Amino acid sequence: MKDNLKPARRQFLKMGGAALAMIPVAVLSGNAIAATNAGMRTSMKYQDTPNGDKDCANCVQFVPGKTPKDLGTCKIFPGDTEISPKAYCAAWAAKP
Ligand code: SF4
Repeated sequence: MKDNLKPARRQFLKMGGAALAMIPVAVLSGNAIAATNAGMRTSMKYQDTPNGDKDCANCVQFVPGKTPKDLGTCKIFPGDTEISPKAYCAAWAAKP
């Protein structure tokens, strides 16, 4: 029966199986997988240094990590888990 599958469908099923196999590895590792959002970083002119007294730590969009010095996330950078509290971007807005 498997031989009756078209090559594209067979390849799709193989890729789907591989993707499913990776889910338990990611879940069981206990650690979030660090990632950056390169597209957002470029479009928002993200930089790893503050702009004067403006930085992510005092931006309304910043979600801090475990400690104030740890990497955090940004509400407008989906999937990016490596936002430095000392970074800055064009979307900076002061915390109220
Ligand atoms: S909007 Fe920009 S400055 Fe504000 S937390 Fe996100 S990356 Fe940092």
